[in-house]
Amino acid sequence: MLTDADQIYARARAAEFWQKAAPRAADLHLFRSQQSWHALAVNGSQVFDLSEALAQRLLMADSAEQLALMHQFGLDMRPQIEQRAYDDPNELPRLHALSLAIAQKCNLACTYCYAEQGSFGERPQNMDLATAKAAVDLLLDQAKNGGNANLAFLGGEPLANRADLRACTEYAAARASALGVALTYSITSNGTLLTPDDAEFFERFAFAVTISLDGGKQEHDQLRPFKSKAGGDLRGSFDRIVERIQPLVSLQKRMQVSARVTVTPHNQHLPEVLEQFIAMGFHSVGFSPMLRSPTGRDELHADQLQGLLGQMIACGERTEAALRVGQRYPFANLLNALKEIGKGTHRPYPCGAGAGYMAVSAAGELSACHRFVGDAIGAMGTLREGVDRATQQRWLQQRHVHTQSPCKQCWARYLCGGGCHHEVIARGRTSCDYIRGWLQYCLEAYLRLTPQTQVKQR
Ligand code: SF4
Ligand code: SF4
Repeated sequence: MLTDADQIYARARAAEFWQKAAPRAADLHLFRSQQSWHALAVNGSQVFDLSEALAQRLLMADSAEQLALMHQFGLDMRPQIEQRAYDDPNELPRLHALSLAIAQKCNLACTYCYAEQGSFGERPQNMDLATAKAAVDLLLDQAKNGGNANLAFLGGEPLANRADLRACTEYAAARASALGVALTYSITSNGTLLTPDDAEFFERFAFAVTISLDGGKQEHDQLRPFKSKAGGDLRGSFDRIVERIQPLVSLQKRMQVSARVTVTPHNQHLPEVLEQFIAMGFHSVGFSPMLRSPTGRDELHADQLQGLLGQMIACGERTEAALRVGQRYPFANLLNALKEIGKGTHRPYPCGAGAGYMAVSAAGELSACHRFVGDAIGAMGTLREGVDRATQQRWLQQRHVHTQSPCKQCWARYLCGGGCHHEVIARGRTSCDYIRGWLQYCLEAYLRLTPQTQVKQR
């Protein structure tokens, strides 16, 4: 448990990073750590250590002078992100990832579910095998020979249609092998229907398995109850999931079993949850703030997001301490961010939705991602007619980070990509201070964990 003193410390850290990350300049983000001054050159996402003298000159400069100084001191590079997107329809991205709503139904009644209890507001239904195979054909026909592709199963609860999920996987594996495509598989499941046989199947095909688990028993049960009632009350699903994941966790070698925690106003004890789930044997644990639910229920609001930032930083500090002594501590949010910063990731979108990634509904409609299933805003064609290239082009042009406001003025734009399309379209940009505060912490953690000799000095 976090003590009262820990809670006060976490709140103070959050306020500090919230403030430090406030947007000041569009092309350069200057910040001071305990050691020295640093800069993130926004174009190309390059991190530098700065001398005190150069930092002071940059701080005093207006934006034109900053650009000139960046050029003079080698902090700039040629633009990494095109100003405009996909003007040539022949250059639209091809699919390399597809998720199948193999079961548009679910046995849980999660309070905040984006899929409206699994059926996306329609009648509960399964995808039939012919549709699933047609989806695989679309994916593999677009993936290049010798290329990579990912086939994901989502829902609803995908294991509610286990037979077609397995038949589709076997079909996809045979076709991918014939076509020379390296195909990987993933599934996001509520974990309640898992069997030991599923564990063997997922291990055989090296699935990335993500289990939705929202904290300790009390918090999870409040947020993720079964639909069926026991004695008139909704029954929690925590005990069932913990029992059902055991065969997967103990069998995982090629398969990786991760936990995904959706953070609402009711489950903000992240460090304890992280510790508990790592001890349970998950390959990694990640947190995702609830920013948009169809009914507005359990969404996080601005004041709660600062509290969340404090909790995330507390998880990050535990991870840093473990990494320093060579211990594995798989806090996915931090490890992924460190990898992205190390690579100098710069991207014009938050994710591949509507670009290299799309979702297929049970009825065979294509949408920008799994959250847009059944939603006309993200419709992208059908399996029968193929990807609607004109709609895809329009989507990618309109969703490009350079066309988003206030993103084009934000220092975090090429690390953030403009925020989840689904959340932004429905609710606007409600979490920018949280996103920047978290990135600020990650940048500083990156500098602490990277040997000084590997950070560029100016
Ligand atoms: S969505 Fe991301 S890039 Fe856009 S303003 Fe917010 S933090 Fe910046
Ligand atoms: S639009 Fe949002 S929900 Fe969909 S893939 Fe992108 S980040 Fe995920």
